Amino acid sequence: MLPRRLIVRAAVSVGVAALLPEAPAAARRHHAAAPYVARGTAPPKPLVMLDPGHGGKDPGAIGVSGTYEKHVAIAAADELRRQLLAGGRYRVSLSRDSDVFIRLEDRVAIAQGRQAALFVSMHADALHDQAIRGASVYTLSGSASDAQTASLAKTENSADRYGGPHVHAVSPEVQRILASLVRQETRIGSAHMARSVVGAFRPRVTLLNNPARHAAFVVLKAADIPSVLVEMGFMSNRQDEAALRQASHRSLVANAMTHAIDAYFAGVGITRSAG
Ligand code: ZN
Repeated sequence: MLPRRLIVRAAVSVGVAALLPEAPAAARRHHAAAPYVARGTAPPKPLVMLDPGHGGKDPGAIGVSGTYEKHVAIAAADELRRQLLAGGRYRVSLSRDSDVFIRLEDRVAIAQGRQAALFVSMHADALHDQAIRGASVYTLSGSASDAQTASLAKTENSADRYGGPHVHAVSPEVQRILASLVRQETRIGSAHMARSVVGAFRPRVTLLNNPARHAAFVVLKAADIPSVLVEMGFMSNRQDEAALRQASHRSLVANAMTHAIDAYFAGVGITRSAG
């Protein structure tokens, strides 16, 4: 059985080739993301989009001794970007580079606009129970992902993901099939990334019980980009807050994240073909 990614890419390529004898720039860009057959150039490194939670007027959770989640989130994202770039395998982009407020939907749009291969939202929220500590990772629940998928075929941006607005010329039925394949591929990718995070954290960073969880986070609703939200710890727990204030601990978390991202990209083809 062909990997789903290849099926989707092949369908897109056929659509583009049939409809666009002279492909416009947008389609050529998409083609550049397809498997590299006889192109003679190295593929661009995948873009990892890091999304530091909150920012600006939204401090996120406020720790038991006053730490703002938004500051921990961007400090950790900065460190993770540094480590990922040092490895030389990825391009890295941050949804926010400074202390500014960005709406959740806009974070998704930024990742889509930059054609991210993976979206990682970074948080350290608060729980009612201050005794609970440890890192955890979240994927979008199935029911919540339907809303995004329903809108996928309707929007110009979503159509762009299939190789440009010309895909509109394809029948609605084919568009639905493509959207369904992409959604399935994204769900499998997100689950694979969540497993990679748990596997990479377990020997390195304290984990919450049952650390891989599901929730309807708006920021994970990109139908076309595997997305996870990582809670690096909880601001409501004194030990987690104290740890996340330390650059050395954030470096440890970033190191675990780097291992997770490496594991994700190393296994992407196998996992997706098995889905
Ligand atoms: Zn948060």
